Amino acid sequence: MESMGCVWMRRVGLGANSLLAWKTTAVAAKTYSPTSLSSSLCGFSDSTISLHSCRPASVNSVALRYASRRSITAAVSTSSEVSCEIDADARKDGAPSDGNGGVFPVDKESKVILKGMRYVELEEWVRSHGFRPDQALMLWKLLYGNGIWAHSVDELKGLNKDLKRMLEEHASFQSLSLKDIKTASDGTRKILFTLEDGLVIETVVIPFQKERSRTTVCVSSQVGCAMNCQFCFTGRMGLTRHLTAAEIVDQAVYAQRLLSNEVGTIKNVVFMGMGEPLQNIDNVLKATDIMVHDQGLHFSPRKVTVSTSGLVPQLKRYLHESSCALAVSLNATTDEVRNWIMPINRKYNLNMLLETLREELRHKHKYKVLFEYVMLAGINDSIEDAKRLIDLVRGIPCKINLLSFNPHSGSQFRPTSTEKMMEFRDVLAEAGCVVLLRLSRGDDSMAACGQLGKPGDIQAPILRVPAQFQMALKQED
Ligand code: SF4
Repeated sequence: MESMGCVWMRRVGLGANSLLAWKTTAVAAKTYSPTSLSSSLCGFSDSTISLHSCRPASVNSVALRYASRRSITAAVSTSSEVSCEIDADARKDGAPSDGNGGVFPVDKESKVILKGMRYVELEEWVRSHGFRPDQALMLWKLLYGNGIWAHSVDELKGLNKDLKRMLEEHASFQSLSLKDIKTASDGTRKILFTLEDGLVIETVVIPFQKERSRTTVCVSSQVGCAMNCQFCFTGRMGLTRHLTAAEIVDQAVYAQRLLSNEVGTIKNVVFMGMGEPLQNIDNVLKATDIMVHDQGLHFSPRKVTVSTSGLVPQLKRYLHESSCALAVSLNATTDEVRNWIMPINRKYNLNMLLETLREELRHKHKYKVLFEYVMLAGINDSIEDAKRLIDLVRGIPCKINLLSFNPHSGSQFRPTSTEKMMEFRDVLAEAGCVVLLRLSRGDDSMAACGQLGKPGDIQAPILRVPAQFQMALKQED
C-alpha cells in the first residue's frame, strides 16, 4: 500500500495535452489551503474544470455542518462545476455551539460527533454538561480502548447512567456506515464505508500472519483525489471533498472492531488510501492526535505514517506540528518525468521538495522520511534512475521503498519485472541506501496501492506522454 499515499490539490482544465476529457459536469473543490495550485499544474490553460475554484460555492449547497473551527460545504452547480469549500469560521454558518461558547463538530441531527474531538475537547464538552473530567476519561477509554471501541450507548459498560442518558440525547458515535468488505486471496481486506452524505470511501487492512505486529490499516483522507498522478486509479476520480477528523479516526476504530479478532490488534496506520492527506492537513493533524492518545487508540507516533505527493508548505507544517512519521511519494528522478506522472511537481519541483526535507530534517531527532518509489517499466526504472536517486536523497535521513506498480483498468503503465526491481535495489543498497522491495498486496480485490476508489463518468485527464516514453508504454516485456 505504501505508494498509495500522497495527494494534493489541483486545478484541472481541458487543454491541448489532455487525451481523456472530463465528460460531463465538472468537479471543483476549493480548500482553505494556503497554497493553491495554479491551473497550470496539470498543464492546462483552460479552466473548464477547477478542483480548487476561487469562486464562492453557489447553488444547491449541502452543508455538512462540521462545526469545529472550520466547516465544509459542498455545493453542486447545475452549470459546469461542483465545488467544495471550507469556511474559515464555522460560526458564520450557524454552526451549533455547546452553549458555553465552545464549538464542537455536529452531525445532521445536531448531535455532537464524539470522534471529531481531541481529548481536551471531549473533556470540555462533557464538563459543559455537568459531568466530571474522570467521567470524560472513562468515556474516551470506552470509545477507543482495546477490545471495546464503543459504537453506541449500549456498549458503554460501567458509565454513569445520567452521562449515558445525556450521550443518548446529544452525542453521535459513528461517522461511517459499513457497506461491504472484500477479501483478496492474500487476506488483504478492502472495507467500503458510506458517509453521512452518501459518498463512499475505502479503507484497507493488510494482515501479516507471521508478524502480527505489522498488521496495518490504510486510511483515506479525502473522497477521491485531486492530484491526478497518472499511475493511480484514485486519481482518475478527481476530488469531491475532504474527510472530517471523525471520518478518518472512525476508519481505524472500525477496522479494529471488525477485524482484530481475525488479524490481531492493528498496530500501524498509514494515510495512503484515497486522497492527499496534507491537502486536508487540519483534519489529518487532529485525527493523528486522537489516534496516538495514550489513553485511547494508543498508536505509536512512529507507527502512524502520513504520506504526501509533495505539498511543500504543508509538509513543513506537518514536520513542525506532528511527531508522526512522514512518507513522500517520489516516483521519478527527473523533473521531466515527475512533471508528467505527478503534476504536483510543476508547482513544487524535485529540488524544492528535497531541499525542504534536507533542511527540515536537520531539526528532527532520529527521524527518517520514507521515500516511496513506484516502479514503472521503461519510465523510471533504469540503472541511470537508480544512480540519480542516490544523488537526490544524499544528505536526507531516509529509507526507500521500491513498490511494484499495480495495474488497473485504463492504465497505460506496466510493472517493472521483479528481476529488474532487484537490480535497481542492489544499486541503491551498494551505495549505502536503506532500501526495501515491497510486494503488492490485495491487487485481485482492487485493494492495492493506487487501486482504490471508483471513477465515475467524470474523470481526471490523462496527460500527454512525453515523446521519449511513448515507445516504452507500447513495448511488451
Ligand atoms: S492520485 Fe493517487 S497516488 Fe496520487 S496523490 Fe492521489 S491518491 Fe496518491
